[in-house]
Amino acid sequence: MKKDTLLGHLGRNPSQHHGTINMPVFRASTIVFPDLETYGSRPADDYKTPRYGIHGTPTTWALEEAVAKMEGGYNAVALCSGLAAIAAALCAFVKTGDHLLVTDSAYGPTRTFCDRQLAGFGVQVEYYDPLIGADIKNLIKTNTKAIFCEAPGSLSFEMQDIPAIAREAHARNIPVLADTTWGTPYFFRSFEHGVDVSIHAGTKYIVGHSDVMLGMIVTNERYWLPVRKTVAEYGYCSSADDCYLALRGFRTIGVRMKQQMANAIKVARWLQQRPEVKRVLYPALESDPGHAIWKRDFEGAASLFAFALHPVSRKQIAAFVNALKLFGIGSSWGGYESLVTAPNIAPLRTATKWNTDNPMIRFHIGLEDPDDLIADVEQAFVRMTNAA
Ligand SMILES: *Cc1c(COP(=O)(O)O)cnc(C)c1O
Repeated sequence: MKKDTLLGHLGRNPSQHHGTINMPVFRASTIVFPDLETYGSRPADDYKTPRYGIHGTPTTWALEEAVAKMEGGYNAVALCSGLAAIAAALCAFVKTGDHLLVTDSAYGPTRTFCDRQLAGFGVQVEYYDPLIGADIKNLIKTNTKAIFCEAPGSLSFEMQDIPAIAREAHARNIPVLADTTWGTPYFFRSFEHGVDVSIHAGTKYIVGHSDVMLGMIVTNERYWLPVRKTVAEYGYCSSADDCYLALRGFRTIGVRMKQQMANAIKVARWLQQRPEVKRVLYPALESDPGHAIWKRDFEGAASLFAFALHPVSRKQIAAFVNALKLFGIGSSWGGYESLVTAPNIAPLRTATKWNTDNPMIRFHIGLEDPDDLIADVEQAFVRMTNAA
């Protein structure tokens, strides 16, 4: 079946839930058993049968099944946030004295977790150039236990050649973890491109409506139990209500993302023609240095991209951002509405140097009519120029 058909049918079976179309919300801490023998023989490694609320309920499993199957993974686990998913996935692989390779383009809080928590426990964290490709082999040590990728970076939008990195990693029996929030299970089939453990901020496009915090880890068969056990051992879980909302959002991820991608490309192409803009960082554009890799590996693009301005003052940047009426100023993305931030990338780079001459603006393009968004950006550019 095609993925749009699957989206409507995965993770639900009305005959098993009283004919209701959607899997109901099963809220639970305690789950009771018919007798002491059954209670005593709960299978330890089976995380998809009722045991205790922390391990999920049919509501959680419905979401996990739908996301894992859409992405082509073996299994998935839902957690309370994307960051918790990153932390738990990393902790499944690295211990004191181990070496971990992390892309220099990683999401800021991922870096903070590595630099403070993992390094604090004695893990050697080393950042690498996101464009490294097969040369990652030169950084691999005998104690390298995982390679963490993110493509494209959610601020800098550099594509990574994940298959090339994975070939080197797998030749040395090292797992590849990837933050695939931008690609989503709908547009990036991680496991066909060498990812072993795919991590999503479900908060973004999976939920899709800016109202739930959620993380998802999807794995292949080999790494399922080490990851799932680590999640259980840290006590991470997610609520049935949040999983219900996430699966409800996930049903429409296809139509949302296809429309948001079309809107984003229209706005991005318009920005490319503007005299205020130096360059647009968006792998979906032919002019982007990562376009060929994106086209090879991805089935579509998220509607999150950035653009570099010709040098303007901080006051002018604020005038531009504050003048936007249809773009909310705030963290996160992947909802139905447009957002803007002005990221400062340079402090988040250590393996590579980020050019600071050109101020950056990041747009998340929502489901609004792109012509209205363009008109809004156009009037904001006038305000920016006038603020000089
Ligand atoms: C938002 C985000 C996360 C973290 O997700 P939360 O649910 O906000 O914790 C991780 N990675 C990327 C790329 C993100 O954009």
